[in-house]
Amino acid sequence: MGSELAIQRVEVHQFQWEHENLGYAYNGFNWVYMPGSKVIRTDYLLQIFTDQGIVGEFVGGGTADYAQMATWVYYLLGRNPLQRELIYNDVKRALRKQDRLSMGPVDIALWDIAGKRYNAPVWELLGGWRKTLPAYASTYHGDENGGLDSPEAFADFAVQCQQMGYRAFKIHGWGNGPIEHEVANVLEVRKRVGDKMDLMLDPACEYNTFADALKVGRACDEANFFWYEDPFKDGGISFYAQRKLRQLIKTPILMGEHVRTLEPKVDMVVAEATDYLRVNPTYDLGITGAMKAAHAAEGFGIDVELHGCGPAQRHCMAAIRNTNYYELGLVHPKTISHSGPIYADTFSDNLDSIDANGCVPVPDGPGLGVAYNQEFILAHRTGHQIYQR
Ligand SMILES: [Mg+2]
Repeated sequence: MGSELAIQRVEVHQFQWEHENLGYAYNGFNWVYMPGSKVIRTDYLLQIFTDQGIVGEFVGGGTADYAQMATWVYYLLGRNPLQRELIYNDVKRALRKQDRLSMGPVDIALWDIAGKRYNAPVWELLGGWRKTLPAYASTYHGDENGGLDSPEAFADFAVQCQQMGYRAFKIHGWGNGPIEHEVANVLEVRKRVGDKMDLMLDPACEYNTFADALKVGRACDEANFFWYEDPFKDGGISFYAQRKLRQLIKTPILMGEHVRTLEPKVDMVVAEATDYLRVNPTYDLGITGAMKAAHAAEGFGIDVELHGCGPAQRHCMAAIRNTNYYELGLVHPKTISHSGPIYADTFSDNLDSIDANGCVPVPDGPGLGVAYNQEFILAHRTGHQIYQR
């Protein structure tokens, strides 16, 4: 295999792009369909250069983790990028007073290096389970602008997705009430798609009260929903409240998107606060962290569900038995998906990225197996950090 690899330099290219026909919802945060408006997206391309010419890459992230990298990325210089477990444990400890969100992108890029080093796709290094991934259409939040603006509009879109081949559909509703509107949405979408499609609901922690979460949960029971995710303003982190909700409804609960890293996720399962466990390689300390959580869930006999979409999610899902769906989104009948023009090859997370069976493929090239659109990224660059000796 040759001599030991060493990390020589790390570069981070921050870039911005305009996402057309999107604006902010009533709360100032949710992106919703808004014709003629636009939101500014800020992402970055992370590149980890080794002394033997192999470069590990990641695209995504946010401004907070871009800034956090400056506090520790020098640690990587001179290290063997294949010692992911050592790096995971060192940095996890070093960042114990922070949210550790910058660890995920770095670990993902290290897996990209490993795959390129061994000339194998990451899913194969992780232990392959499948090569096609059943996807659900994960919608933008409900709007009031002629898009997903009524239960009928959500139901029309669900039927459209069903006809395209999707086997599952997830609603991100309105969140600003009245709660009867959310209940009507759940019932209308089920009525229109029949019983052959799995349906999920993700209020993204917007409902004001536990009572509202319970009301909508009971509608999910009536409509036989597949899961109910982060319903109310506990922020998705109260083990007590989620356990209480589980005792009062039948629909499986999916929690953990906002419970960061392996140990508290395991505590959440032990507290019986969730039915399925949410995991995201970007948030949960990388592919390394996500796979630890997936295997911990396997030990409990429960399923993990990967949050968000992208190459890392696909490689993880391809190597996990105990999981059900790939989150493809955010999607909408009238505007493009939110991953934007960052890929230079055939990889995409758009509404029409599925095959006739509602599945997406797993990249098969070395590493993460994707090529990023560096021309676009560099043309839109707003920040640049170089870490080297
Ligand atoms: Mg969610």
